[in-house]
Amino acid sequence: MFRLDTKVALITGASRGIGRATAIAMAAHGARVVVHYGKSRQAAEEVVKIISDAGGEADLVNFDVTHSESVETEIAAVEKRHGRLDILVANAGIAVDGLALRLSDEDLDLLWQTNVRGSLIAAKSALRTMLKPKQGRVIFVSSVVGEMGNVGQTAYAATKAALHGAAKSLAREFASRNITVNVVAPGFIDTDMTAKLSDDQREQLTKVIPLGRTGVPDDVAAACVYLASHAARYVTGQVVRVNGGLYM
Ligand code: NAP
Repeated sequence: MFRLDTKVALITGASRGIGRATAIAMAAHGARVVVHYGKSRQAAEEVVKIISDAGGEADLVNFDVTHSESVETEIAAVEKRHGRLDILVANAGIAVDGLALRLSDEDLDLLWQTNVRGSLIAAKSALRTMLKPKQGRVIFVSSVVGEMGNVGQTAYAATKAALHGAAKSLAREFASRNITVNVVAPGFIDTDMTAKLSDDQREQLTKVIPLGRTGVPDDVAAACVYLASHAARYVTGQVVRVNGGLYM
């Protein structure tokens, strides 16, 4: 039901964290996976090796998501190399935290360029390749804070909320082409991004998560596999929350 055989999936930010787990999970479900990375080449190569050692197929692509031209050129090259692109998970992202009154223009611009513009240019490039075959899956990775807000995350939350509006609009624009566009909104997941939380912060956080723990990348990967699969063919414009009940 959740098999992805014959599909080609590009996961941005697959060198680490949620993207890494998603790439490995999609390959385990039969997809040919294109592992995208920015700076962490060695880590991305390890992901390809893990997939190949398990009998799957994967290769690498490198671009900085803030460089629109590279995003477009490299995604077009992925389609040329594989002859198709069925699934895009626009996952690459950064968090720049800080109280609102201390936010700089530079932080705002970097967050916007990476989390919003980077994801949208990737989506646009992927959607272009999905039009003719009249099939495709685009999944944006946003965040629980895009819906519930968080102290110290005004700018980050704004970028993630923007993805919700974008996904719903794209879902409407591309539905007639049999292309679905959805969002996965993770809660607090144990990755490099959340490694800076102190033990005390982690304990406080765990207390307000109904399931009593922070998430692991595989929790989010499972939702991405579902949305990419045939099982989710009637799901579009939705936000799938993977947050242990933190926000309902
Ligand atoms: P992570 O461990 O810090 O990994 C971030 C990934 O994004 C890396 O693979 C990194 O690639 C890539 N990336 C960042 N900026 C890039 C750029 N300019 N160009 C190309 N690649 C870039 O983060 P994560 O926790 O897995 O988060 C993944 C996504 O989930 C993000 O969008 C994040 O906002 C979202 N999210 C995370 C959590 C959480 O609790 N962890 C919660 C909600 C949402 P390189 O290292 O190769 O440069």
